[in-house]
Amino acid sequence: MPVTQLRAITAASRLDNVRYAIRDLACVADEVIAQGHKVLPLNIGDPNIFDFQTPPHMIEAVYKAMRDGKNGYSPSSGIKPALEAIRREAGRKGITTIQDVFITSGVSETVDICLAALLNHGDNLLTPCPDYPLYSAVLAKLDIRLNAYYLNEEDGWQPDLDDIRKKITPRTRGIVLINPNNPTGAVCTRKMLEEIAELARRHNLVIFADEIYDKMIIEDDPHIAMAAVAPDVPVITFGGLSKNYLAPGWRVGWGIASGDASAMKSYVEGINKLLRARICANHPEQYAIPAALEGPQDHLAEVKRKLRSRRDLTQKWCSATPRVSCVAPRGAFYAYPSIDIPESDEIFVRELIRQKHVMVVHGSGFGQKPGTQHFRIVFLPDEATLTMAYAGIAELIAERYGR
Ligand code: PLP
Repeated sequence: MPVTQLRAITAASRLDNVRYAIRDLACVADEVIAQGHKVLPLNIGDPNIFDFQTPPHMIEAVYKAMRDGKNGYSPSSGIKPALEAIRREAGRKGITTIQDVFITSGVSETVDICLAALLNHGDNLLTPCPDYPLYSAVLAKLDIRLNAYYLNEEDGWQPDLDDIRKKITPRTRGIVLINPNNPTGAVCTRKMLEEIAELARRHNLVIFADEIYDKMIIEDDPHIAMAAVAPDVPVITFGGLSKNYLAPGWRVGWGIASGDASAMKSYVEGINKLLRARICANHPEQYAIPAALEGPQDHLAEVKRKLRSRRDLTQKWCSATPRVSCVAPRGAFYAYPSIDIPESDEIFVRELIRQKHVMVVHGSGFGQKPGTQHFRIVFLPDEATLTMAYAGIAELIAERYGR
């Protein structure tokens, strides 16, 4: 057989900007693991690798669905009992102008579909900086310009309204608001939601309200749904089972489209076209949705208790550690301390894995204001593990940079 020299198959250049720092660090950790060390993973927001378990009644619901033969495809938008449960849950959160509800393979797919259904070439989308990197990855895939607005550290990581105002262009089609926030743990005030809603009204923007952590509020303040504050504005609210209901591996998420019916009509049809094209979300797992939203909620008190204790420990450590300072997280399970060091936060994080076997994610992986450095901590591990990890981080800071 003739030997043919095959040319390299190059990936699309659109992907040059796709980065997912959270998982990109895994190769550094693999080196350390190959040397026989255990790595403390404070980098991935997966509650189930720590002491959090999926509520058993949800597992029963999926098991029953499988035994009852619900193993074929489901309708593209999702199964009726789950859609109805999501609508009722939205109602409990004060969302009154629902135009459509649809179930997807995780919020990751909701984001993919909702952005693809909206954006044309040349449009742009306002996304937070720092952000959860899924958004920039999906935008890169669609070849859409990222239009990042800052979250303001001096204002408890609330969105910087002046910056948003400055960045709106005639081609801005929407704004992403992650609340509670990944990576900062901030929770938006009602006033902030109202101000953003007003901007959306004025500039005809769709608001993507990523509320996947809405039941993981550490303080006693209630979570306020953006769509409840802005019933007339086009809002897609994202929710799912990954975080609140401790089942990230099931890949179950949803979108709730709300707002003025005639304003939303064409966009909702576009979303449904894409939902049909990908057939359906995971079928048996959808049976866990009514069980989750309307069954026992006992796990939430336990989750909140653990998160509060682990947040407090984290905050205390941040306050006591030279070169580190942190806005106290109020929701989700992330802290985003700033760190005052003379080299990049990425080098710091890589050295932390190599030397102290602790994994966190560098701030530059989420985006940050020039001249600032951060790292993201996932404070899901138990107190003993966190204490060990924080000792390692403090040691590296002292050894590498002094006090
Ligand atoms: N949105 C935010 C803010 C997240 O933090 C995550 C996961 O960490 C997702 C969306 C993705 O969620 P899912 O597991 O439902 O795809």
